[in-house]
Amino acid sequence: MCIKYPFLYPRNRFTGMHYNYWKIIEYHNNNYKNAVLSYQISFDDNILSAALYDTTGHINVHGKELTAKYDVISRRLNITYNGSYVNSIDLRKYFKKGMPQDFKIYMTYNPKSSHVNIKLLIAPVNNSKNSYGIDEPTYFNNIVLNDEECHFYNCIINRPLYWKIKILDWIHDYPLQWLHFIPTYNEYDAMEDGWKIAFGKQMLDEIKTELKRVNYLYKYRIFDIKEKYGSLRWEDCGYPVGSNIGKIVWKYEQMSYDYCIHCGKPAKWVTRGWITYICDECAHKTRKDGTCEIDYCDPIVDKEGQNESAAETNEEL
Ligand SMILES: [Zn+2]
Repeated sequence: MCIKYPFLYPRNRFTGMHYNYWKIIEYHNNNYKNAVLSYQISFDDNILSAALYDTTGHINVHGKELTAKYDVISRRLNITYNGSYVNSIDLRKYFKKGMPQDFKIYMTYNPKSSHVNIKLLIAPVNNSKNSYGIDEPTYFNNIVLNDEECHFYNCIINRPLYWKIKILDWIHDYPLQWLHFIPTYNEYDAMEDGWKIAFGKQMLDEIKTELKRVNYLYKYRIFDIKEKYGSLRWEDCGYPVGSNIGKIVWKYEQMSYDYCIHCGKPAKWVTRGWITYICDECAHKTRKDGTCEIDYCDPIVDKEGQNESAAETNEEL
């Protein structure tokens, strides 16, 4: 298919990469969390938001202990994983108007979260005397932070695994992309079967002939082929000015109203709700729940009349 009609060759619409599914991606996703600790630190004096957080300064991540401790002398937040340092963050850089005396640290770990699954909430604390003259911690809520309140950190906790992932990522992005040019599907697969039978090949040939004429056969890219409001939508990434591609596509999109979406026979009925145009035979089929398809259909009375205008209204929505 892709040799005869090069424009059906599938590519990622954003990256231009081949779409083929690789086990490497799965490997990457499964192992990345074991190789890299991704965590988010935010400053907050609203302790209520940390109701579910751990306040002991350590949590269990992948069966090992992650700890966060504030060191008053160095003014650093020291983070260790499995007993060894992974990060030491200078907290001074976050405060414009002096440093709080202490910090309360709240931690949480959600292994199911797909993005950042470790969160540290840091509540700045100052010791001051209350109205009875007794020292008590007050939350330091008048600090002006230097930048936005959330900070993200990544720390490699398993270097061999991390490099293995990196190397496999590179292999995926380069050599495999170059080598793997045989697609497992093409853009035409997305077209409904009935339309393929009714006019599919004819449409492809007509587009191909026109693309050849304007010397655009290998540049033309399909963006999306789908069904919407009962008719064919064929979206592309543009074509040269002066070509008739737009007209050809429009002609077949309009033609799709006339053919059964399932089998390609002339459409006689239109379904309610999810609009589809179907033939007499398909309208008399029994549904899974025992009811007949025709109970959910209206006849297409007059092509030039009300139903045609109804179709146009749908399209504008
Ligand atoms: Zn049919």
